[in-house]
Amino acid sequence: DAPTTDTSGTAETKQETDTADTAEKTESNGKKVGVAMPTQSSQRWIQDGANMKSQLEALGYEVDLQYAEDDVQAQVAQIENLINNGANCLVVAAVDSSALVNVLGEAKANGIPVIAYDRLLMDTDAVSYYATFDNEGVGVAIATYIEEKMQLATAKDEGRTYNIEFFMGSPDDNNAVFLDNGIHKVLDKYLESGVLKCQSGQTTFDKTNTLRWSQETAQKRCEDILSGYYADGEHLDIVASAFDGLSYGVAAALTGAGYAPGEGWPLITGQDAELMATKNIIAGTQAMSIFKDTRVLAEKAVTMVQAVLEGKTPEINDETTYNNNVITVPSYLCTPVPVDKDNYEKELVDSGYYKAEDLK
Ligand code: BGC
Repeated sequence: DAPTTDTSGTAETKQETDTADTAEKTESNGKKVGVAMPTQSSQRWIQDGANMKSQLEALGYEVDLQYAEDDVQAQVAQIENLINNGANCLVVAAVDSSALVNVLGEAKANGIPVIAYDRLLMDTDAVSYYATFDNEGVGVAIATYIEEKMQLATAKDEGRTYNIEFFMGSPDDNNAVFLDNGIHKVLDKYLESGVLKCQSGQTTFDKTNTLRWSQETAQKRCEDILSGYYADGEHLDIVASAFDGLSYGVAAALTGAGYAPGEGWPLITGQDAELMATKNIIAGTQAMSIFKDTRVLAEKAVTMVQAVLEGKTPEINDETTYNNNVITVPSYLCTPVPVDKDNYEKELVDSGYYKAEDLK
């Protein structure tokens, strides 16, 4: 049978679509974007990578997505490969924000622009734009949640005090420093007035940080704190945790020390609204987390890629905050949203970030 001519109009429609696609994609012109992400051990970075890839591909870019599994040298090698394989632009979420100075210098020498993704790239002028969340705002939101739930403002008059411990992020991640600043901006006055007591005495970032945001390290430190400072009947009431992964480690240590979910279980915070953390919020073993919509962050980073490759103007909303010791990087700060049992459905399910059945 000879092929019949399509008279249904489908061919015409298809051709129109093709033309539209080509129009949108001409500028991207098959350009290559190298995306270097830190790790797949935490769900958020998997989503970040997937969102970047799909959004860039939809615009016609070729995407090479790499994960370094928190290995600093592996990330350096990956970025070198991306450069050697002809990347026209790099998007980098660093494992160690200061360890990429040389390789980013190579990118610059090769005329390859670099976008810092979520984590600022430190000590280099080889970075054009920075897409992130308001990182101090994350700390303020976590601490404000503690302040409100524990009614700290009126606690002193009512003679109430609470024991608190701090589990902060990685010292090689600039975000962790900003988050810690935000926490202390809100809570220091209560440490000073004695409403909050930190039995371990570990309140400053040099003591509370957690290298590579490691769950195991947080669990071990929490076990040591519980056996060292809470074994004689002191009760831990609040854990200011900077990341859901740390909160899982803390919860395991608490369980090991005899704390049980329900009354007496401490208020534990977190960050990223990971699926597991959200389930823990529903179950009551984590009080809250910070939702960072990685779809929005990817959108902002993509506009920055288009800006450096196609001479477009990306939206910037901060030109003063993020100095990396060499330059102040023009930034777009997305808004972090605190979520707990009262608003997770609205923020996470209604927005399509998670499906209701994923949370069962
Ligand atoms: C990110 C956080 C994340 C943490 C651990 C930080 O740089 O901003 O969202 O929780 O890394 O992966």
